[in-house]
Amino acid sequence: MSVRASVATFAVAALFVAAPLAQRAPTPTAPPPANPRLEALKKEVLADVESRKVFTQQMVDQIFSYGELGFQEFETHRYLVDILKANGFAVEEGIAGIPTAFIATWGSGKPIIALGSDIDGIPQASQKPGVAWHEPLIEGAPGHGEGHNSGQALNITAALAVKKIMEREKLPGTIRIWPGTAEELVGTKAYFIRAGLFKDVDVALFTHVSDGLDVSWGARSGTGLVSVQYSFQGETAHAAGSPWRGRSALDAVELMDIGWNFRREHLRLSQRSHNVIVDGGDQPNVVPRTASVWYYFREIDYPHIKEMWETGDTIAKAAAMMAGVDLLPTKVLGAAWPQHFNKVVAETTWANIQRVGMPQWDEDDQTLAKALQKELKNARAEGLTTKLGEQLQGPVRENTGGGSDDIGDVSWNLPTVTLRYPANIPGLPGHNWANAIAMATPIAHKGVTAGAKVQAMTILDLVMRPELVQQAWTYFRDVQTKETKYEPLIRQQDVPAIWLNKNTMDKYRPEMKKYYYDPTKYKTYLEQLGIKYPMVKK
Ligand SMILES: [Zn+2]
Repeated sequence: MSVRASVATFAVAALFVAAPLAQRAPTPTAPPPANPRLEALKKEVLADVESRKVFTQQMVDQIFSYGELGFQEFETHRYLVDILKANGFAVEEGIAGIPTAFIATWGSGKPIIALGSDIDGIPQASQKPGVAWHEPLIEGAPGHGEGHNSGQALNITAALAVKKIMEREKLPGTIRIWPGTAEELVGTKAYFIRAGLFKDVDVALFTHVSDGLDVSWGARSGTGLVSVQYSFQGETAHAAGSPWRGRSALDAVELMDIGWNFRREHLRLSQRSHNVIVDGGDQPNVVPRTASVWYYFREIDYPHIKEMWETGDTIAKAAAMMAGVDLLPTKVLGAAWPQHFNKVVAETTWANIQRVGMPQWDEDDQTLAKALQKELKNARAEGLTTKLGEQLQGPVRENTGGGSDDIGDVSWNLPTVTLRYPANIPGLPGHNWANAIAMATPIAHKGVTAGAKVQAMTILDLVMRPELVQQAWTYFRDVQTKETKYEPLIRQQDVPAIWLNKNTMDKYRPEMKKYYYDPTKYKTYLEQLGIKYPMVKK
């Protein structure tokens, strides 16, 4: 059933590609219809984004210095909301029951374009920027070991540049800016959908940090997932005096993990599954009354994610029976659909990417990149990417699994693309201190400015060429969702897991505050930290 669904989707996508030329949206190589007014405004917006690069750099550095984990992005939230309000956006805070989520709106009428990007950090990724080896600012603290400090800076720069033009030219259209709160927990976007935040939106332009400048359409490689916490309850007893009177919840956790790891041999190659024990009891001489284990079940389509989840539930029940304890009601802590991006919006974005091209890296940028790649040993020391890909990437042919992003849920509710912009170094492990090194350096600053130029031109395209929005919806309705319909993975009883990461942030925040970036005193965060860019081993 599930396999058939995905094959069908693919077949339809293939049909679309093979359709006669007349029915197709403009191909990436076809020049857009002559539109001198749009052309002049694009030139203007490119110069305007360039002129905002100090402001862009400050946003990148500021959010980097906050280094906040998912659901606890309070400083980041305040900072972004204040900037948006100061620039004429109406901001609604605490949306979908999530304190660190907002929607900022400017403009009126159609089209409504939603600009999103993630904002949260990675546990234990604290790292001095611009230094080509592991050197935490604060040992054990979180940091931007994915680069989620950069995407909002890109969107805000682009939005403000376009807003200036739309105001003067009296162009109808609405810009909405929203954060991918707690993306590392895939914790919020399904709730945004449930709350109806995208109901009237025409196109979602999402951005994500990368080492290249690109966009793709169709099914993207990688997985969707459901994130589930299993909690067990037994009875305490003296672990030496009367162990037979106790029942260990930790036994159930361990039995579940053993059961899952035996089953793993018989799962599909495309799956990924992993867990952490979040409660393993109190102390050895007290039989653990409570214990919990937290699983991510990942697969490349919705039916297979559901199937894995059911297997997990069965193993949890069986483990509880073996241990003689109770399995408490499970909690879904996050969910993500596999991603599928819009062909028309991707083609529009790709044309703008080709126009902007990769940033001009200088010798310092390349020196840092090569030194870090060498430090990591397994990466080829080829430095930063200098060229664009040769063509717009279409649907992935063989999806062997990989990461997830809950932008997938958005992508199944309206035409969506993710613009990936070159703010990081190739060949890094991901979710690691190494991925933080470039993220408050000229590499990130230049990459974000390049991305903002693309984003600004794409917004202008959508505002000034209403046929693009129409064609995007034709693809969405007639191709993408013809066979596959969105069904949320979150259940009715599930709520956003806003308690996550609170203890960690409470522990580290007082120390982290000492390192918040102060742009009134320092031009850059590197300058504030006294780092002579780039710092590499001799
Ligand atoms: Zn990410």
